[in-house]
Amino acid sequence: MGTSTQQEGVWQAVLGEIELSVSRGNFLTWFKNTCLLKEDEGLVVIGVPNIFIKQQLERKYTDLITEILKKHGVDADQIEYKISSLATSATRDSESEPVLTSNASAPVTITTSKPAAKPVMGNSLSHSYRQGLNERYTFENFIVGSGNELAFAACQAIAGQPGTKYNPLFLYGGVGIGKTHLLQAVGNTLVSKNPDAKVLYISTEQFVQEFVDALRFRKTADFASHYRTADALIVDDVQFIAGKEKMQEEFFHTFNALHQANKQIIISSDKPPGEIPTLEDRLRSRFAGGMSIDMQIPDFETRCAIVQTKAQAHEVELEQEIVEYLATNIQTNIRELEGALNQLLAFCEMRGLDPTLSVATSLLSVSKGRPKHLSAKQIIERTARHFQIPIDDMVGPKRDKDIVVPRQIAMYMLRSELHLSFPKIARELGRKDHTTAIHSVEKIEKESRLDAGLRMAISEIKEHLYA
Ligand code: ADP
Ligand code: MG
Repeated sequence: MGTSTQQEGVWQAVLGEIELSVSRGNFLTWFKNTCLLKEDEGLVVIGVPNIFIKQQLERKYTDLITEILKKHGVDADQIEYKISSLATSATRDSESEPVLTSNASAPVTITTSKPAAKPVMGNSLSHSYRQGLNERYTFENFIVGSGNELAFAACQAIAGQPGTKYNPLFLYGGVGIGKTHLLQAVGNTLVSKNPDAKVLYISTEQFVQEFVDALRFRKTADFASHYRTADALIVDDVQFIAGKEKMQEEFFHTFNALHQANKQIIISSDKPPGEIPTLEDRLRSRFAGGMSIDMQIPDFETRCAIVQTKAQAHEVELEQEIVEYLATNIQTNIRELEGALNQLLAFCEMRGLDPTLSVATSLLSVSKGRPKHLSAKQIIERTARHFQIPIDDMVGPKRDKDIVVPRQIAMYMLRSELHLSFPKIARELGRKDHTTAIHSVEKIEKESRLDAGLRMAISEIKEHLYA
């Protein structure tokens, strides 16, 4: 995870310019804690800390952002806003700000994906000594319990005395159990203790991408010297190096250079060194040469503590039965647990409700049964079928009330189920103007609160979709 430094550079430049074109208050409120999550063939995904900022940016600032991105060489055909843990809230800067997602079962992916179109070397290597670190991950906001206590202790020891013990440290375990969090916490601590230290955090996918670019632009020497002169190198999800022979060779040399100089190396993986397929033996033995720690999902009590702490960060005190319900039902992945909590909090916040066990139960059981890939087409077809109108009318020009309302419901569902952007929703239903989509979604949201018939219709459509 982590945004690529190139993207970060572009986004910082864009923010700098936005700052000049909006009022200070608006800038601080709406833009300060955004980040660029992804830029890929015209699709730009911007990370935002919460739903309110997301809506505001969608409604008011998409044009401005598009325009300024363009000035910086990024042609955005489509901008999406995604509530993301990478975007932190100004008011709770040291607290974790988990992802607000309304689909707890979908993994919350924060894509690093392709770096921006530019060659890597121009920007990133001269960039900074704290590459890839995100301040939201700290030791303080990491809950320690069985499953992660050993990893936590080792990381703290390293943060206290880098390069002297446990070198390399190799953390491994399943998805969403806190590996990245701990790696980042070490990096953040090292930087805070010594702001001049060259601490480099990189996801292996990004590492490989940078290496490929370095080969392409004949900058392998720059690449090598950048990484070989780190004071601490943190490489996340190293399993992705499997099968990449040249990269493994390069990494082997980097590893040796750092290790000989007593520089700290920290690596994470989803499996132990011995089980990463097609990993060169010499790298395997290097990885296993320090300390390897197996991380497990924390036990029930720890999961409860995580839920309660994260709720408190949102200034919500949850009933113990709700906490226990979540911790009982989500047993494999803290990211999912966080997602479910956030879904619950967002749901209640938007409707002005207090979180109750029955709301939690119904949200979780709906999202548990969800297929991974529901398409826009399925939603539109299912809605048309429910109201017995031809699909052509749904996406066509007619404005009769018995077509307009189903169309609005379909828009609402595209929003609530797929989180599509308003322009995209408009396009899916053959509308040119995205304000139509905004208006429709708002209208259905509002009316469904008052109108039980409408609520029934929506839940019936959903039942079919997720059946
Ligand atoms: P991994 O890298 O193992 O896939 P992450 O470190 O990304 O998992 O953790 C997923 C999410 O869960 C992150 O938001 C992280 O902050 C949170 N998390 C995981 N373990 C803990 C913990 N013990 N205390 C607090 N938050 C945690
Ligand atoms: Mg991770």
